[in-house]
Amino acid sequence: MNGKCDVEYYLNSLNDVGIEYRIVEPKLPGSWDKWWPYPLDAWPLCNLTFYSGIYQPGKIVVIQPRNVNELKEVVSRARNHTVCLLPRGGGSGVLGALAPRDCCVYVDLSRFDWIEPHVEEGYVYVGAGALLSRVEEVLGGKGYTTGLEPQSIRVASVGGLVNTLGAGALQPGIGNIEDILIYVDMVDGGSRRLRLGDPRRPRAYGLAGGPFLIAGSEGSLGIVYGVGLRIRRIPRYTSSGTFEFNSIEDALLVARRLLQWNQPALLRVLDEYEASTLYGGSGTLLLVAYYDNEDPRVPQALLGKASKIAGAQGGRSTQDIYEKWRETRYDYHKLVEQVAGIGLWFDTIDVQATWPRLPRIHKAVTEKLQATKGVVGVFSHISHFNTMGGSLYTTIIVERDPQVLANAWRVMLDTVLEIGGSVTHHHGVGLQKLYWILRERPWEIEAYCRVKRAFDPEGILQAHGLASACRRS
Ligand SMILES: Cc1cc2nc3c(=O)[nH]c(=O)nc-3n(C[C@H](O)[C@H](O)[C@H](O)COP(=O)(O)OP(=O)(O)OC[C@H]3O[C@@H](n4cnc5c(N)ncnc54)[C@H](O)[C@@H]3O)c2cc1C
Repeated sequence: MNGKCDVEYYLNSLNDVGIEYRIVEPKLPGSWDKWWPYPLDAWPLCNLTFYSGIYQPGKIVVIQPRNVNELKEVVSRARNHTVCLLPRGGGSGVLGALAPRDCCVYVDLSRFDWIEPHVEEGYVYVGAGALLSRVEEVLGGKGYTTGLEPQSIRVASVGGLVNTLGAGALQPGIGNIEDILIYVDMVDGGSRRLRLGDPRRPRAYGLAGGPFLIAGSEGSLGIVYGVGLRIRRIPRYTSSGTFEFNSIEDALLVARRLLQWNQPALLRVLDEYEASTLYGGSGTLLLVAYYDNEDPRVPQALLGKASKIAGAQGGRSTQDIYEKWRETRYDYHKLVEQVAGIGLWFDTIDVQATWPRLPRIHKAVTEKLQATKGVVGVFSHISHFNTMGGSLYTTIIVERDPQVLANAWRVMLDTVLEIGGSVTHHHGVGLQKLYWILRERPWEIEAYCRVKRAFDPEGILQAHGLASACRRS
């Protein structure tokens, strides 16, 4: 951003056209069910400094546009006064994209919350601020679903999921945001209204990459106000199984074989620590589920095939914990309460790698984190498999000390880069991973900055995240 930022003049200019805003002091929420302070996000490191009394953000401006014309005014007036804008959906982001920063104000999208199913045509058009759980309720009433099932379904908005490249629990091809994204409506940094993609174009790609250009851009290219997502029928028949293995390597070999054709709807490998901590299981567990709409024998037969492949690799069929996993997976606040109750803190780290590197990264990060001062617990699962590899998702429980947590992040992400993985999978980058993503993909920075300048010439959108690299390039 060039020029002098003037938030006060900016707010006066919003008053002139009747655009509503609030000035709020972020407060610690009373309930653990919503354990991050409005209007910030759920970044555990920042919130730990907040909870420990080390840091108290000052008052923050939250603008609440009611329609697209107001949104355009919000952006164009921000340009005039060199004010930076932080688009905000549900505030469930975990990497600090919404941490408070000088001269930035929040643009709250929660009033963009329409849900318009077009069942015949196979998609739903939703306001970007709609929470995914509400979208699923409306679709569920018609027997449909997006298939996107992130653990944060009740707190994440659709616009946020697009902008962080979110992923649900189901396999790629079914349950990642890019599998269902058809089009986005947005206002870019030049306050231009744009549609990328087209509801008449089921393949979604367009002249310039279509809506995928925006996926994962963390609000830095435009403020998304509407999203078209494909929908499918809720499955009628499920067959699931759980297999216990002696090692992660064996479980991953089976996962890889299951993925060649007729892939499962759900495939998840739990390391021995996650299996025992969360589900009372033992050993390394592989969870497999197949769905079908027409014939219960289809998922049964596919599960039979999975069982044979698992058996050949030494896998033992064990108590099926798929239902337990499904029933409890949205109860994250219970884990947070438990951990907080004993005076500790926790965080989760999502990374990804190819098949040969996954077990190496899992072993190295587990051992190194277990040996890191102040780290009390480490457990992981590996999921979101594709024919090349998958995502390692590690939960760490630490002493309530921001330095301990920051150090654990460093240990994990340095190790991932050393072994040749990628430091991000579905949580995005935010401020937390910025340093590592710039080391991981320096060749992408120039292209990103060119796109950024085209969409946001003045650099007012999310000026301090990924965009900060453009000031240096
Ligand atoms: C308990 C818990 C469980 C989670 N589980 C998952 C999971 O299973 N899968 C997963 O993918 N993530 C998960 N997350 C992370 C989080 O829910 C996702 O990153 C989600 O996509 C954030 O959506 P949001 O609406 O809360 O976005 P916010 O936190 O509001 O914003 C996140 C980023 O998106 C940008 N943004 C938001 N809305 C817009 C918009 N309309 N236009 C432009 N930019 C926008 C923001 O500027 C910011 O950069 C979890 C988080 C928590 C706290």
